[in-house]
Amino acid sequence: MTDAVLSPGADSVATGDTVPPAAPRVARPADQPAARRTAQPAPATRAGNFSLQRGLQALREEMDAPVAAFFSSCVHCGLCATACPFFVETGDPKYTPIYKLEPMRILWERELTLWGRLKAAVGLGKQVTDEMLAEWEPLLYDSCTMCGRCSMVCPVGNDIQYMIRKAREGQVASGHAPEGLIAASVRAVRTGSPMGLKWKTLDVQIKHVETATGLTVPIDQQGADYLVLLSSMEIINFPEYLEAITKIFAHAGVSWTLSEQCFEATNAGVQIGSKDIAATLVQRVVDAAERLDVKHVISPECGHAYTAIRWEGPNAIKRAYPFQVFHIIEVLDQLRAEGRIKTQGKETDRLSMHDPCNLARKSGVIQQQRDLMDLIADDFVDLKEHGRLQWCCGAGGGVSSNERAAALKMAAFKRKKAQIEAVEPDRMVTMCATCRTQLEEGLEELTMDIPVVGLTELIADHLVMPEPPPAAEEARS
Ligand code: SF4
Ligand code: SF4
Repeated sequence: MTDAVLSPGADSVATGDTVPPAAPRVARPADQPAARRTAQPAPATRAGNFSLQRGLQALREEMDAPVAAFFSSCVHCGLCATACPFFVETGDPKYTPIYKLEPMRILWERELTLWGRLKAAVGLGKQVTDEMLAEWEPLLYDSCTMCGRCSMVCPVGNDIQYMIRKAREGQVASGHAPEGLIAASVRAVRTGSPMGLKWKTLDVQIKHVETATGLTVPIDQQGADYLVLLSSMEIINFPEYLEAITKIFAHAGVSWTLSEQCFEATNAGVQIGSKDIAATLVQRVVDAAERLDVKHVISPECGHAYTAIRWEGPNAIKRAYPFQVFHIIEVLDQLRAEGRIKTQGKETDRLSMHDPCNLARKSGVIQQQRDLMDLIADDFVDLKEHGRLQWCCGAGGGVSSNERAAALKMAAFKRKKAQIEAVEPDRMVTMCATCRTQLEEGLEELTMDIPVVGLTELIADHLVMPEPPPAAEEARS
């Protein structure tokens, strides 16, 4: 060999780690004696070992009582595999949900069980290495959307997606996280948006909406009832959402506002698995809501943004909010129940619905979207598995921000495709911008001509418009 990967001496790493395969190959200077070459670890390798220790420490900190109970109660039945779209559509055993947690399980066994400690004391038992964390990175990020379907079917109640969320903390700390998610997290912290959008981009959309509707989009309205958050993906891909809520809230007489200080709903910290980043992004929303003294915060048509701000947020910042959080669909359904949404006409083509995992399975918002569909659809048919047991679209949990996962994401989508084919809809309806994008891309790639529409937009299309003022009527006649 004329060059070599320089590796640390075995005594330089307390846990006996090995060198990650991705470590740079360093050219060996021809005039350097062999003894000196092997005695000096390369800087990159030392950094790798340091990162491993950080990763292991982060994993240790995540191992709470539920995690210990889950690992000790797993009966290795494999049922979780049958619930995971990544396993079901590839048949590859490495995509078995509980297997994705193997590094965390090894650390738990080695350090927190008597048997594991005894084995470790005599130099036996597996150890978590930097190489292992590198190998598991695609399993934890590319082949898991944290959809929670596996957690629903485990006969002993193991919440696998809860553990995957925790395992990602160790991955991030060790430096083994996808580049796309790292970049999105950095942009989110620096600019407020995982896509790097600034307020001026949204301001352009606001002006378009105001021109199209003749309505005013309220900004920084002190004391408004609702603070509306948006997702960058919506602003870029589905600007019709902002137009829809502007119309619906004007129609229903809702007091609402956007905040120039904080408009982004999505939380890259939750996706990548960083409590610190998650807390920073949640705190921005809380600061904006408190400054404007709103009573409620509305998460947009985005699944993970809703669970991040509603369920994970108070734990992230370690205090309760002085406001309530709702998904837009919950707000629309409440307005419907109060008789504040008047619609006219119904869609006559065959419509079906994709329930976002974070909304239906993780948050129990299932009937609300169906009650809203009743308002505006004549021919609605549910997918066979819907609500809590619906199948994930394959793009959530940061998978859509991870270019490396593109092929696997489409493989997982085949489960959704099969569901859609079975009910033969003319169009699909959903209420999450990530799901909608995945449905659109997946259906197009599979040459299925089935448009996808957001539910909020569909409701806005059927609003009873106010009677034109008499003066306008006279002018026309
Ligand atoms: S949370 Fe969803 S994607 Fe992840 S392992 Fe479980 S079923 Fe598979
Ligand atoms: S379904 Fe539950 S008990 Fe069965 S292998 Fe998966 S985690 Fe273990």
